[in-house]
Amino acid sequence: MISASSQQKKQLQKYTMLEGERKQGQFPLLEMSHLLYGGKDQFDKFLERQNFFDTNPMFKVNHDFYNKSRQDQILLNAERTVEAMKKLSLGDPNYYTPNVLCPQGIFISTVHFAMVIPAFQVLASDDQITKWMTSLKNFSAIGCYAQTELGHGSDVQNLQTVAVFDKQTTEFVIHTPNIEATKFWPGELGLYCEFALVFAQLQVDGKGYGVHPFWIRIRDKETHKPLSGIEIGDIGPKMGYAVKDNGFMSFDHFRAPLDSLLNRYIKVSRDGKVERQGNPKVGYGSMMYMRNILCDQYTKFGGRALTIAVRYSLYRKQFKDDNKQEIRILDYQLQQQKLFPLLAEFYACVFGSIKIKELVNDNFNRISQSNDFSLLGLTHAVLSGAKANYTYFVSNCAEWCRLSCGGHGFAHYSGLPIIFFEMSPNITLEGENTILNLQLARYLLKQLQHIVSKPSAVPEFFKFLSLETVKVDDVTTIDNLIKLLGLNCAILTKYAAQKLMTHSDMKESWDTKSGIALAKAASTFIPYFNMLCFLDTINNKAKETKEILTILARIYGITMLLNNMQGLLLKNQLNSQQIKTLQDTRESLYPIIRTNALCLVEAQGLSDNSLQSLIAPKEGDVYMNMYNFASKENSLNKQQVHNGINYIQKMREVNAKL
Ligand SMILES: Cc1cc2nc3c(=O)[nH]c(=O)nc-3n(C[C@H](O)[C@H](O)[C@H](O)COP(=O)(O)OP(=O)(O)OC[C@H]3O[C@@H](n4cnc5c(N)ncnc54)[C@H](O)[C@@H]3O)c2cc1C
Repeated sequence: MISASSQQKKQLQKYTMLEGERKQGQFPLLEMSHLLYGGKDQFDKFLERQNFFDTNPMFKVNHDFYNKSRQDQILLNAERTVEAMKKLSLGDPNYYTPNVLCPQGIFISTVHFAMVIPAFQVLASDDQITKWMTSLKNFSAIGCYAQTELGHGSDVQNLQTVAVFDKQTTEFVIHTPNIEATKFWPGELGLYCEFALVFAQLQVDGKGYGVHPFWIRIRDKETHKPLSGIEIGDIGPKMGYAVKDNGFMSFDHFRAPLDSLLNRYIKVSRDGKVERQGNPKVGYGSMMYMRNILCDQYTKFGGRALTIAVRYSLYRKQFKDDNKQEIRILDYQLQQQKLFPLLAEFYACVFGSIKIKELVNDNFNRISQSNDFSLLGLTHAVLSGAKANYTYFVSNCAEWCRLSCGGHGFAHYSGLPIIFFEMSPNITLEGENTILNLQLARYLLKQLQHIVSKPSAVPEFFKFLSLETVKVDDVTTIDNLIKLLGLNCAILTKYAAQKLMTHSDMKESWDTKSGIALAKAASTFIPYFNMLCFLDTINNKAKETKEILTILARIYGITMLLNNMQGLLLKNQLNSQQIKTLQDTRESLYPIIRTNALCLVEAQGLSDNSLQSLIAPKEGDVYMNMYNFASKENSLNKQQVHNGINYIQKMREVNAKL
């Protein structure tokens, strides 16, 4: 029998279990936190906002949320949005930091602030901005971004909604000609928004002018009912995104005024003259805004999943060692193999995303201040590749973290399923990842051509494309890993180019013969780019920080090479001995990460309330947490005898007759 004092001792041990792990960290935690958030100010701001969520009762962890109906979840989310709006400026992109800390539902207004307003700023004329921006910003004109249709999403040029100019009335007649043309998926359309930025084929005097944006009131100001000639609704339950009212909408010859066409780049006069003006490429600006947020803020969800998985792997023990002591599952090499490469990748993506943010800002400033478009192509290409790479990473990371937590990872109380559910759609939305990789591939091919014809035009980042071979002695140093990753991408890009050109019809070749090679080449660029950013971050850091980051960078570089080395193999640039060295070295680095694992995830500064996980508190008894939730909070248990029992009786009756 366990005595009272030994029970207390055991209890105390449970509450201080992670203290020893924390103490063995070998680097200054605060410096790492600052690096992860891009500076001290940003980290302090993050803590301030996190504190807002931690101290407001409405945002306290509530795992019973998942027992609620979708209807109730939507209402609770609306209530929470109001509460958040009281304290936070939701139009400020930094607000997404706390927003991502509260993923039981993305607040109402994310589409409005992150997609509609940026698009409006880029596509509307100065007059239209003056007319609308105040009401857009103060939320009195709430809008959705209505581009995708049932029949077409990625292929924007083939959208079928039409906006036909009627010279008699100087109005546009917005019409949905068939079921496929129904707008489908726009967030905040199903229930909430009063306006929509509708993308439609502009037609004037029977001539088509391509797809353009129309800012249209779709619901009545007083009654909130759809205006006559418009049908609107929610599309139904989805995998995740339960509180988001992704909607459908169709138009029956709906009349919109002349100035509903956002006319910075195209104007239709009252007598039907169409005039194009300015550089429509600026239109990329609004997409870049959201993609940048996806890279910058949403990548942090990977770190959140890792915090849960690493902490739980320290609490959890399975099987005994030779001394009859139970083993922490993080001590198993195979558990480390699941988590440590992902931890290294998380750091790599965060450092990459900080660089990308700088690039996006630089590009934006050049365009807006001096009409300088020189960085546009590069920024668009890098951002496309990064959005694809980072969103794949987060989703993959969330799933592996869940798997690494065994059965408990499957329960919502672990905090892991929601990360996977909420992050997975990012692979598809804001540019489907395959399409984005193909866009990066197009840019890589262009730079490859320039290497031969116009080397001075090749941006620094892409000079590696000229590599034919590299000489390296130790394949596992950061510098050599960068060289090998660059060479790998260069070889795969050349291979894709050759494949593309072996067929006379380039379009057909692109679509049906070389897609795999093109997408593969593109997908190997971001690991190379991330390694450059990693190296940049490591330089000039304190010794201990430098040491641990160097280990992480090497694990990341080795993992990326082992996963994607087809290019090097094609040209015999890597032999079997070197591959073995890569594998052995990575394994030999795991013990150092094992010592620092807890500190590496805790450098993110996530509070228990932000983590929303019963299996991974800072300190505590995870089994007691789970037991308490199941026995005291799970509302399904509130009714001692559930109504469903009546059906058991019916089943017995059915079976009795068999
Ligand atoms: C949660 C969520 C929220 C959304 N919010 C909005 C919103 O607010 N507003 C809005 O307008 N839309 C929204 N969307 C829609 C989203 O933008 C589209 O789903 C997305 O653009 C992908 O288009 P699609 O669905 O037509 O996919 P498709 O293009 O049909 O893709 C299906 C498959 O075909 C492949 N494929 C397609 N073309 C090619 C090609 N050329 N080469 C190789 N492979 C190809 C793709 O890689 C993919 O595997 C949302 C979607 C989701 C899931």
